[in-house]
Amino acid sequence: MKSTTFCLCLSWLTIQLLAASQTMAQAPSPMVQQFVGVKGDTLALTHVNVVDGTGQPVKADQTLVIMKGRIVAMGKSGSVMIPSAAKTLDCTGKTIIPGMIMMHEHLFYGERVAPQYLGIEMPVSFPRLYLAGGVTIMRTTGSVEPQTDLNIRDQIRDGKMPGPDIDVTGPYIERAGLPIPEVWGIKNPEEAAREVSYWIGMGCTSFKVYMDITKADLTEVVRLAHQNNIKVTGHLCSVTYREAADLGIDNLEHGFWVSSDFEKNKKPDNCNSTAQFMSVSSVDEKSPEMKELMAYLIKKNVAITSTLPVFEPYTGREVFPGDAGEALSPVVKEVVEKSAVSLVGKDSSSRVMFKKEMAWEKQFVDMGGRLMAGIDPTGAGRVIPGYADRHILELLVEAGFSFPQAVKICSLNAAEYLGRDKETGTISVGKQADLVLINGDPLKDIKAVRNTELVFKNGIGFDSKKLFESVKGKVGLY
Ligand SMILES: [Zn+2]
Repeated sequence: MKSTTFCLCLSWLTIQLLAASQTMAQAPSPMVQQFVGVKGDTLALTHVNVVDGTGQPVKADQTLVIMKGRIVAMGKSGSVMIPSAAKTLDCTGKTIIPGMIMMHEHLFYGERVAPQYLGIEMPVSFPRLYLAGGVTIMRTTGSVEPQTDLNIRDQIRDGKMPGPDIDVTGPYIERAGLPIPEVWGIKNPEEAAREVSYWIGMGCTSFKVYMDITKADLTEVVRLAHQNNIKVTGHLCSVTYREAADLGIDNLEHGFWVSSDFEKNKKPDNCNSTAQFMSVSSVDEKSPEMKELMAYLIKKNVAITSTLPVFEPYTGREVFPGDAGEALSPVVKEVVEKSAVSLVGKDSSSRVMFKKEMAWEKQFVDMGGRLMAGIDPTGAGRVIPGYADRHILELLVEAGFSFPQAVKICSLNAAEYLGRDKETGTISVGKQADLVLINGDPLKDIKAVRNTELVFKNGIGFDSKKLFESVKGKVGLY
């Protein structure tokens, strides 16, 4: 008992110091309050299984004390003193994981309206859905309305809107010519530099280069971003993974699926997506060349973002993975469903590639690489925020990761990349209470991840169901 008291006092001191040094977020407005599922600034979660985000095995029957947004004590139930003022939640049969930190999200939804592809901003439904599904920090990884994304980030920070903390990525840095009217095309490296400087000034905190940039464009983007302590990621094609690593890129999107490193006779600075896909598809799962590429990226400290949901094949899979069908507006749902159903049985090459991609991601982590994850709500329109974020844990487990490893990919790995691991990313004493309470045991049945009950962000426990309900049928509209 003595030692627990000591621990608690020490933690109490820590919390006082932290509270004093921290600029507290604004108090939630009534608009946000309506989604708060558990009131009180001192909470105790008892008898809960903890998967803490470090990749370590689950700790059974723990008690966790949260005070003013911070975790102040944690240990075996019965050994942790619960303050008398605490509101206690008996979490028998439940599991907590850290708030998810997701690295390839968007605040727009991709809709194909042939011959174009549209990125339609979803400023109401998406922030709520991400939070509902357990996401407490997200990067927008390519913006079509950076000014909207910045406003949403600020409204969430100021307690006027529910949603995750947002690392706003600037507009896609891309050469002209894409059939996406929302994407601005640059003509030369000077324009890339102008765009990056402007959006840094407006408050963007990350950048993403796209499929047709040149090495000279990337050089300028990296130079300016790094000067401002900002990181750069890319969905590449014209530039190979190796070239980008040499030019100082920090992160690459979509696993190894969009690597053009295996293209024979590749023209420099030129994207040929068919040749790119054919070449990477022909790489063997256990290819030594792929292993060499991975080793090179690890040496250059380049992180990889897994975006398995956007690559999910059609055959034998849900049309809207993670039971997400209810989220869509009926008109949009019908169109997406029709096209998905027509592709069942015709996706054999992507089924093979999907398996390979999973194996490569596992191999990259086994070799010591930093893997992060995101859902990418674009593609065929099947990937829906929140629902897909929970589902990504299922896909990572399908890829061969243990559940604690899958959780780490979606928390600590990203927190470290963002330089936020001292404040969040794991469930440990002294850190922000960013937590997801799941009803069930995902180690026994991975589908239990779909039963999110409460999502704590900075100690405020949001009602997952209420958030999901509030925007049912709205995806595709706003
Ligand atoms: Zn994307």
